Amino acid sequence: MKQTIVGEGYRSSILIIYTGGTIGMKTDERTGALIPFDFNGIYQEFPSLRSLNVSIDVHTMPKLIDSSNVHPSDWCAIAEVIRSNYDRYDGFVILHGTDTMSYTASALSFMLENLAKPVVFTGSQIPIGLLRTDGRENLITAIEIAGARDGDRPMVPEVSLLFHSCLYRGNRTHKASAEELDAFRSPNYPPLAEVGVKITYNRNNIAPMPRCVEPLRIATLMSEGVAIIKLFPGIGEYTLRAILSVEGLRGVVLETYGAGNAPTAEWFQRLMRETVERGVLVLNVTQCDNGSVEMQLYETGLRLLKAGVLSAYDMTTEAAITKLMYVLGKNLPLEESKELMKSSLRGEFTV
Ligand code: ASP
Repeated sequence: MKQTIVGEGYRSSILIIYTGGTIGMKTDERTGALIPFDFNGIYQEFPSLRSLNVSIDVHTMPKLIDSSNVHPSDWCAIAEVIRSNYDRYDGFVILHGTDTMSYTASALSFMLENLAKPVVFTGSQIPIGLLRTDGRENLITAIEIAGARDGDRPMVPEVSLLFHSCLYRGNRTHKASAEELDAFRSPNYPPLAEVGVKITYNRNNIAPMPRCVEPLRIATLMSEGVAIIKLFPGIGEYTLRAILSVEGLRGVVLETYGAGNAPTAEWFQRLMRETVERGVLVLNVTQCDNGSVEMQLYETGLRLLKAGVLSAYDMTTEAAITKLMYVLGKNLPLEESKELMKSSLRGEFTV
């Protein structure tokens, strides 16, 4: 459903895509429970939106979801809304539940090929219908950023995530707090912008506009058959073997210790080698909050490297798993898939 909430004739035009989550909740006066709020009424709720120098339309997804229920088919649906409205708008704001917002932002960063316009994710910790909501500030700032121009170009032509006082690259983020209003972190990449009295853009951190702007393409085949395995002391051979021998497995994000280290036990190394030899892409991500995988540092990492495990460098788990889904969804020959995994496609790791 689409509704124009501010008139034409402004500098930038923004499409808000409302998918659900806490930001869109209000209290049901009868039961006291939280229920979805009709975002098309946002303009009446927040007349201050009129003072922004942008025109705004709202697209409400047909089924509003708590983001814990998000599925790759929802990512495809969002990508399709962006694709079919791409030429009509200067920027997009995606209102999304916070729980899986980093997964969706990471997925979209890969799925939107040749993106040259802002796609800004935001949400809130407190429903927009409550007095102390953080949703109002987040929404208004996200709209302002999506409409910001640098001369005749968009200021932030990539998938980003705005929360509280920072704008981050979407595929570098991670939800770090279930309570704080400052809920997201970008552990290995500095903010694209900081929000205070003014919005300060860190131009050097923002992806440059592509030299030659190609039509937007969306990749909607996200591979199934992927898994995340977090190592822990005492992880058993039987359990790990059961997971790794599951039928249809094509890719694994292996969350290792420190700089990408794992047990040197013979059974573990053999299992890794066998898995890689079967053509499964195994990607090494660190469990640490920040820093990068460096498999050459210790014997415990070197063995994984020798087994053919790929480094995720300083990627988040969210970026690693969605990149695997995206790359494997292309159904390329194995070596080409590996090359894509080793390349930074959307600034998802530090080179
Ligand atoms: N469970 C909610 C969601 O992710 C939480 C939120 O939006 O903050 O949809």
